[in-house]
Amino acid sequence: MARAALAAHACTSTHRANTRSACVRCAQCVGFACPVEAKGGTHNTALPAALATGNCTLVIETTAERLVTDSAGRVVGVALVATDAYGQLWRRIVSCAEVVVAAGASETPRLLLNSAHDGEPDGIGNNQDQVGRHLQAHVYAGAVGLFDDEMTDFAGPGVSIATCDFRHGNDGIVGGGMLANEFVPTPAATYDYLTSAGLIPRTGLASKHAMRRELQRMVRVVGPIQEMSSAESRVRVDRSVVDRFGNPVVVTSGSIHPEDVRAHAFMSAKAKAWLEEAGAVRTAVGEVGSRGQASTGQHQAGSCRMGTDPARSVTDPNGRVWGHDNVWIADASLHVTNGGVNPVLTVLANALRIAERITRG
Ligand code: SF4
Repeated sequence: MARAALAAHACTSTHRANTRSACVRCAQCVGFACPVEAKGGTHNTALPAALATGNCTLVIETTAERLVTDSAGRVVGVALVATDAYGQLWRRIVSCAEVVVAAGASETPRLLLNSAHDGEPDGIGNNQDQVGRHLQAHVYAGAVGLFDDEMTDFAGPGVSIATCDFRHGNDGIVGGGMLANEFVPTPAATYDYLTSAGLIPRTGLASKHAMRRELQRMVRVVGPIQEMSSAESRVRVDRSVVDRFGNPVVVTSGSIHPEDVRAHAFMSAKAKAWLEEAGAVRTAVGEVGSRGQASTGQHQAGSCRMGTDPARSVTDPNGRVWGHDNVWIADASLHVTNGGVNPVLTVLANALRIAERITRG
């Protein structure tokens, strides 16, 4: 393995930021609430800052079910729905001059599709049948290895070494990605990784003994790979299935691209080689996972992509929905490609860029 670079975890911090506590290196970081509020999230970064301005009202446990349009098709408000303390439905319409939708790559297209009106009978921004298309996420490549020595101390946040050598320019492969050591896995996740890889028995006393021995001897090297986008992988709404408020739910369709399967094999072989060079005595590569289905599991993106051609995109390059001068999208739905790394920093940077465009008028 060529150069390996230390990588700071994208959503954790080992030192103080603002008023947050320092990380105490607990055993469960990614996917769990931080016990000391060291980990950054909107709840302890952007939202408190916005509320402190006095210009922000936070409405919780409430769903935006529809964008409201006037007779000319201009968006003039957002319809909200919730259940009150007595279990009764509560509905309000909030009037607004500008609307920014940032509900993620499933719920953002769902909101647009569920906001059909006379001028846009297939949904807001969808007269060219682009809303929901190009759904992508991240296929994960990687390998798992067992070592003779204990390798894991179960202290978070976990990821400490990574390589970006294979993100681009891989001979004969379209795309590529990042590889890193896995964050601290739970015992159940370790069991899943080791049994799926065929490295320990699935049941019985032998399985228990193997788990006791291997729990601290396992290392995974994994990473997201840049997916090829496809117009046929998409988010739609299913009008025959509704949520508790009566709104059609999301249905996804499509499949990952054959090139993603090839990139997965390439990157998994690199992960396996890394583990073996580090001294792993047994290794196995991971499965491609969601073959035959659209990739939706992690880092969903691309379902309202931005572009310069209104016939092939949902928004302009600044996130403004074509045909609507006051409706903006500011989440991963805009991504034309999701890249070969976690997309959160791109989502944040793009949201700030769009916010600047809006405030500039
Ligand atoms: S490892 Fe993660 S969850 Fe645990 S204290 Fe540190 S930042 Fe918080």
